[in-house]
Amino acid sequence: MSARATILIVEDDKALRRSLAATLKAAGHAPVEAENAAEGRRWVAHYRPDLILLDLGLPDGDGLDFIASLRPDDLTPIIVMSARDAEAVKVAAFDLGADDYVVKPFGLEELLARIRAGLRHAVQAKGADPIVRTGDLEIDMGARIVRRAGAEIDLSPKEYELLAILALSAGKVVTHKR
Ligand code: CA
Repeated sequence: MSARATILIVEDDKALRRSLAATLKAAGHAPVEAENAAEGRRWVAHYRPDLILLDLGLPDGDGLDFIASLRPDDLTPIIVMSARDAEAVKVAAFDLGADDYVVKPFGLEELLARIRAGLRHAVQAKGADPIVRTGDLEIDMGARIVRRAGAEIDLSPKEYELLAILALSAGKVVTHKR
């Protein structure tokens, strides 16, 4: 099983938000729910999510403005989920900095695959080696999977972060604080 990614869901449709959260949890991720743009911005600062699922029609604003408020300082991958199928809206979302766009209704398996791709791209964009090997450990930074001698290890998010830091620092002195 892969280590968890923290995924923020900004969606005012409660039934959909709940079902997305349950799906993400079942897939081993840690979902965080926001029902409007203001709460979404608060949770971005608080949880520092690995990826954001973003509805466009929010009660306190447009999701496009939400994207604009994060970029270019915050490059957390954003997958837009919207019933708006017009090409102009998609173009606007991508130009503002969205990484992906799914039109409602969408299949959950497809969304999970897009999330995996988004997490992979984020790691690659940071310039980190997507696969780090040290000793018999292999860390797939994109998929957040750790293998020892080829067998996957189940880790908590904290353990994963620590291991990733240690692996990236392999060969260097890692301070006690880190
Ligand atoms: Ca909505």
